Amino acid sequence: MSQSAPATTLQDIIAHAKEYGFVFPSSEIYDGLQAVYDYGQNGVELKNNLKAAWWKSMTQLNDNIVGIDAAIFMHPLTWKASGHVDGFNDPMIDNKDSKKRYRADQLLEGKAEQLANEGKADEAKALLEKMGQLLSAEKLDEVRELIVAENIVCPVSGTANWTDVRQFNLMFSTQVGSVADDASQIYLRPETAQGIFVNFLNVQKSGRMKVPFGIAQIGKAFRNEIVARQFTFRMREFEQMEMQFFVRPGTEMEWYENWKETRLRFHKAIGLPAESLQYHDHEKLAHYANAAVDIEYKFPFGFREIEGIHSRTDFDLRNHQELSKKKLQYFDPNVDPETNKPYGNYIPYVVETSVGADRLFLATFCNAYTKETVGEDDKAKERLYLKIHPALAPVKAAVLPLVKKDGLAEIAQDISNSLKSSFRTVYDDGGAIGKRYTRQDLIGTPFCIAVDYETKEDNCVTIRHRDSTEQERVPIASLKEKIGQAVAIERILEAI
Ligand code: ATP
Repeated sequence: MSQSAPATTLQDIIAHAKEYGFVFPSSEIYDGLQAVYDYGQNGVELKNNLKAAWWKSMTQLNDNIVGIDAAIFMHPLTWKASGHVDGFNDPMIDNKDSKKRYRADQLLEGKAEQLANEGKADEAKALLEKMGQLLSAEKLDEVRELIVAENIVCPVSGTANWTDVRQFNLMFSTQVGSVADDASQIYLRPETAQGIFVNFLNVQKSGRMKVPFGIAQIGKAFRNEIVARQFTFRMREFEQMEMQFFVRPGTEMEWYENWKETRLRFHKAIGLPAESLQYHDHEKLAHYANAAVDIEYKFPFGFREIEGIHSRTDFDLRNHQELSKKKLQYFDPNVDPETNKPYGNYIPYVVETSVGADRLFLATFCNAYTKETVGEDDKAKERLYLKIHPALAPVKAAVLPLVKKDGLAEIAQDISNSLKSSFRTVYDDGGAIGKRYTRQDLIGTPFCIAVDYETKEDNCVTIRHRDSTEQERVPIASLKEKIGQAVAIERILEAI
């Protein structure tokens, strides 16, 4: 019998992630570096498994999607063409009393959320629309006026003593080479997408790719975020998993709808529940997009974006073509039924899916964190475990001898060694068996294999299932197949 426990807070998540080797603050011995985090021994496994699921869902499930791995540094003109040098800004505002800095759009979004919670959905919508118009028109004075008119105060000082709203470019820059002149200034990429755009023709030609086709990439991106909080949700160094899908102009909305649905299925397939996921259409379209939607996950701090799906038109390829003076066109031999002639040369349109590996990690981790009260009355006790999809769990199986003596340790070690080449298995003989189960629960190991005295007689072991804590007796010889099937990444790919 289990009852629901109090709601999980972000503090619970941060503490658990640190205590059990998932995420540590960067350079913690020096008191950390704000909005930068390191993944620990279990975190890196979970993150790698998530990345593998995404990578395979793109490049293995789709005949027409291939991957690349572009460099972080790119020619500086890349960022001119993409619009990042001139337009990759966030509007910031400071409170003069508390000296705290905020993103002006986030203050207004917060107010809209509050209005919506008070049942004033129309007012909330109108506010977001107004904000979108003012930001698109770069009317920063009026954005400030709107903040004041809405009586938005600084949560720290409680005052509305605001500075002007200013634009702040989020790109990190550095120097390449030993001569410090302007020409040698380069940027740390703020998104991975541009590495795909500049390689569009290389991949198309060398892979003989036919439109529609996609290029996928996983890699680091860097943004000097104004307000960096909420753990790995908003970092200054993070990882993106992006796929640019090149299509014939005029077909982009079909593909946009298609990818919107496929990506939601992916999130459900990795174990995020439908009720914790939602679409959110953009009020303010980015400079490159003609349609955009976010997939949001319900974090402990509310529904927030984990993935963006954008119809980017030919904005990027066209600008790269202009600045590089290299043709970035595709010849489409297919016949247009209306004109009876081949579609011929065009710059493809692009539908992009862009998900943050770190936000996906955080969503998976928050979703997995399960506190249950087991038993009733004076026998009630709390059970805490990570309900991670078996294919994503850092450790798939733990082999635990009941005691170290009488040859049980050796049998357990042999079993562990025989499973290692198939999936990640650990051996643990330290402490009472109950404590060892708990240790594995806390890192989300789906299967514990207990070796006891009977094992010597019947060559069977007890598998203890993480979520139900149910136990089942199975022959040693069947372990590899039984557990192997349950933890295979195919389980996720088949569900997409
Ligand atoms: P936000 O509005 O939250 O700043 P965004 O719309 O700027 O996000 P995109 O540019 O669409 O984000 O980036 C695609 C994905 O990259 C996001 O959905 C998110 O998962 C991830 N991402 C973006 N910025 C960060 C960050 N600072 N830290 C971690 N992940 C990020």
